[in-house]
Amino acid sequence: MAFIPYGRQSIDQNDIDAVVVTLKSDFLTTGPKVAEFETALCGVSGAAYTVAVANGTAALHLAALALLEAGDKVLTTPNTFLATSNAIRYANAEPLFIDIADDGNIDLDLCIAALEKDSSIKALFAVHFSGNPVDQQKLKAIKERFGIIILEDCAHAIGGYEGDVKAGSCRYSDASIFSFHPVKHLTTGEGGAVTTNDEALYKKLLLLRGHGMTREEFAFNDLAVDAKGNANPWYYEMVELGFNYRITDIQCALGLSQLKKLPSFIARRHEIAKAYDDAFASETVVRPLYPFKEGSAYHLYVVQIDFTKLTITKAELFAKMREKAIGLQLHYIPVYKQPYYRNSGYADLCLPKAEAYYDATVSLPMFASLSDEEQRFVIETLLTILHENRA
Ligand SMILES: *Cc1c(COP(=O)(O)O)cnc(C)c1O
Repeated sequence: MAFIPYGRQSIDQNDIDAVVVTLKSDFLTTGPKVAEFETALCGVSGAAYTVAVANGTAALHLAALALLEAGDKVLTTPNTFLATSNAIRYANAEPLFIDIADDGNIDLDLCIAALEKDSSIKALFAVHFSGNPVDQQKLKAIKERFGIIILEDCAHAIGGYEGDVKAGSCRYSDASIFSFHPVKHLTTGEGGAVTTNDEALYKKLLLLRGHGMTREEFAFNDLAVDAKGNANPWYYEMVELGFNYRITDIQCALGLSQLKKLPSFIARRHEIAKAYDDAFASETVVRPLYPFKEGSAYHLYVVQIDFTKLTITKAELFAKMREKAIGLQLHYIPVYKQPYYRNSGYADLCLPKAEAYYDATVSLPMFASLSDEEQRFVIETLLTILHENRA
């Protein structure tokens, strides 16, 4: 059997054909596929506006710049990829890491306690960890009671939902972001998007994506028109310090083709999650992070392992699985443990649940093209290693 990674893309001939069509068209970038992809993402999320960008980190960067001011205190989770809190830093704002709950998501009750104590907190950047959305009713309560800015990092959660609230819909938030990296549900190679229901925010994001340049609504007529009052056709103005965070039409053609398969991708991830849950139901050393949840998009399948009952360490488990050509992963090292954050004032921070979670968890292979046979091999191999190495 070929090496089984923890995550990978699922690309078929339709995806390849879609890219080839765009390669032969007039527009490789800034063409019609970008707008088509954005419209399709509005459909998937239910949000009114989408700005597709170069990657998920760029989406976070633009959203943070548009939403935050320098010095703002922002509640966020330590159990995420680096980019979530880095985006807060890009805006020269200050991440306040809040401990996690049992499901690996930020503990919103602790967020409420922090907001009660400190009225200067401006925002919350939440992550729907593993694809399992944070409690939307609590998010709503936080928005209504404290009026803070809320961003939802939906990099794990496209196609997920809680109750009637779809991930990325921004029902109780100001903006959401997606990532289309190959390990995520659907890929554009690299890619990302911001969704929002706020038209002014949408316009600001569009500006920031493209160098802060505009070709409409000029502020300075001295250069915009000639002596006879004719509009100068070459003229543009730069009104913000923006970036080139554009996504290409080639990428969006791939994204559109992938989006059609999102329901089947998620259905397959759900099958895999249920099969893992069943396999571990009677085990004492290994158990799912949370019991099967229909609204989770299952970007990751995380298990907690009781290493106190084993003679091997986590590194040894990783190595033994690797010998059998199975890739495990760990999501995530608490972000404040990174040297950059330790050197930026977080050296003494200790969030006990995030650290206990880090010690106990492992991510198992989870992707739509994982076959039943491969999954059975992962389960058997893992259980054999765990049983052979009991204390
Ligand atoms: C993948 C990911 C990102 C960053 O997305 P890129 O497209 O890799 O830049 C941000 N946040 C989370 C939670 C992610 O998993």
